[in-house]
Amino acid sequence: MLDVAIVGGGVCGLALASSLQARRVDWALFEGRGRLGGRVLTVTGENGAPLDLGATWFWPATQPVITQLVADLALPTLAQPDDGQLLVLDDAARPPQARSFDAATGQAVEGLPPQPGSLHGGARRLAGGMQALVDALAARLPPGRLHLGQRLRRLQDLGDAVALHFDDGTTLQARRVVLALPPRLALDQIRLTPPLPDAVQAAMRGTPTWMAHAAKAALPCRSPVWREQGHTGNAWVTHAQAVLAEVFDASGAAGAALAGFIALPAAQRARFERSLPLLLESQLAMLFGHHLQPLGAHWQDWAADELCCSAADREEDGRGGHPGQHAAEVAQLQAPLWAGRLWLGGSETARQGTGYLEGALRAAGRLRAELDRAMLAHP
Ligand SMILES: Cc1cc2nc3c(=O)[nH]c(=O)nc-3n(C[C@H](O)[C@H](O)[C@H](O)COP(=O)(O)OP(=O)(O)OC[C@H]3O[C@@H](n4cnc5c(N)ncnc54)[C@H](O)[C@@H]3O)c2cc1C
Repeated sequence: MLDVAIVGGGVCGLALASSLQARRVDWALFEGRGRLGGRVLTVTGENGAPLDLGATWFWPATQPVITQLVADLALPTLAQPDDGQLLVLDDAARPPQARSFDAATGQAVEGLPPQPGSLHGGARRLAGGMQALVDALAARLPPGRLHLGQRLRRLQDLGDAVALHFDDGTTLQARRVVLALPPRLALDQIRLTPPLPDAVQAAMRGTPTWMAHAAKAALPCRSPVWREQGHTGNAWVTHAQAVLAEVFDASGAAGAALAGFIALPAAQRARFERSLPLLLESQLAMLFGHHLQPLGAHWQDWAADELCCSAADREEDGRGGHPGQHAAEVAQLQAPLWAGRLWLGGSETARQGTGYLEGALRAAGRLRAELDRAMLAHP
């Protein structure tokens, strides 16, 4: 019987697997998709540029755990350019206005929504895209322990072990199970017998999955023409017909690209799917001119992804706020369940960096310590 079954092959699950492997624990990881990474998804643009359609940035000033890991793994990074001209398009019928932004002072730009005051706040990207972090974590692990395409549907406490039932009809037992996925999603998808205590279920239901409602697009370009015009590539589009709300430079050594968050509400996106490439291109042309001529358009609608977005996240469409605002619930999410045989993980269960990659790594660190303690007490 396995010592630990990890369900979910995102950054939290992979980081936990990595530390269990180092401790020679008998573990296996089960991921519902045919790929690892979860909310990290990097695709390759027509010009070879790695394009992050999920998590992109980390913030060295406030996120020590991911910063240290990136350094330990020797992953090359680059700064997100903020200093310079930022474009603001608040009227679909008028040209954008250029505003200067000083990243050193983090000065708010008059007339912008409150959050861009610090713009990207000293964020850094990985030169190979955030997938480089996932690949580096997975490279430490024996492939035979990583099981893709294994979606968990049911967990049953047997008293001295837990039975896992997967979509494809397979079943196995483990002494301990970690659900390294958003708590809301776990509640939606996995039937737990016996059910978890009401307070735990309420905490799971009340914790929004960070960015699960979002959709992100990236458009590779022949060259970063916006820089020739003196722009950083940063733009805020605030009018009612906006397709991309927030645009930024996603270029790297491999090629130029612009990326942004799609402004259309989650419920409307499916209707616009076929026209989206045209809409994205025309909005970028409004901002940076027709000579931009993107080489392609890539996007990911996370709200339509049932291994990311729960029904409640889809319904709230971001109005549920940040999971870190629900601090009172974290204690419930971190509690041992089924006498220490079941643990909740995923970034949303972290006290710090909640919802971010930093939180996913912190959750993995907490789980490692809890499992160490549990295995010492009951080997
Ligand atoms: C558009 C977008 C932009 C973001 N930008 C940033 C950013 O710039 N910086 C940042 O720090 N964070 C960002 N985030 C958040 C970041 O992606 C997450 O914090 C992080 O990836 C969470 O990792 P995780 O392992 O906790 O969860 P996840 O990545 O959600 O992994 C959970 C895994 O569990 C799997 N799974 C789910 N259900 C089952 C099941 N029943 N059986 C088996 N497997 C299952 C999923 O397929 C998934 O692989 C962004 C997220 C999105 C969507």
